[in-house]
Amino acid sequence: MLVCATVLRDIARHAEQAVPNECCGLLIGTGTGIESVHPARNLRQSPTRYLVDPADHFAAIKASRQAGLVVVGAYHSHPTSSAWPSQTDEQEARNADFLYLIVSVVTGETRGFRLVEGRLQAVPLQVTRDC
Ligand SMILES: [Zn+2]
Repeated sequence: MLVCATVLRDIARHAEQAVPNECCGLLIGTGTGIESVHPARNLRQSPTRYLVDPADHFAAIKASRQAGLVVVGAYHSHPTSSAWPSQTDEQEARNADFLYLIVSVVTGETRGFRLVEGRLQAVPLQVTRDC
């Protein structure tokens, strides 16, 4: 999956702003790449959990449609742990078409995952600057 460098920068900034809580949002792009982000409210306001506000999710769908793009996934941050899915992340992941992106505020790393047979499996991310 291709990811614009600006996307990673925007997510990292959002994650920093949300400390001590997790941040979350939607990923906008095409079937092969992520071009922009749509920040969302974390309804849980928690350092270990997130729940994308459905109103923000709806707004992201609308905005991406207008741009000829789609919502391809969701991102959230881990303020105090690594960029690997928590048990809760795996239990709450529902969408097999989604790319789940996790950024760690601690390590600065971002990793991508897809839901395969109930488990979140790592997907290689290729960062690109020309977008
Ligand atoms: Zn998580």
